[in-house]
Amino acid sequence: MAEKSTYIYIRISLITGDGRNMDKIEVGDIITVKKQHPCGSLEWEVLRVGADIRIKCQGCGHILMLPRPKVCTMIKKISRT
Ligand SMILES: [Zn+2]
Repeated sequence: MAEKSTYIYIRISLITGDGRNMDKIEVGDIITVKKQHPCGSLEWEVLRVGADIRIKCQGCGHILMLPRPKVCTMIKKISRT
C-alpha cells in the first residue's frame, strides 16, 4: 500500500515536471481550497488521483473531476487523517 502510493507520487512528479508538495495529494486527503463552493464549503475529499483528480465537496457531496494542474492552483491546505 505505502509502496504503491510512493510509486504514484513519483509518476505524477515525472508527468507534471515539478516536485512541489501538491504532488503529495493522496486518496482520502481533505483539501482546503481558496475559493468556496456555492454551498459554502471550502473542503473537498480526494476520491481518485491520476492525470485527473476526482474530488467530493464536503458540504453538498458534489463530485468534480479536474486536471491536476487546476487542482494544484486551487489548494490552500492538505489535511491527512
Ligand atoms: Zn458543495
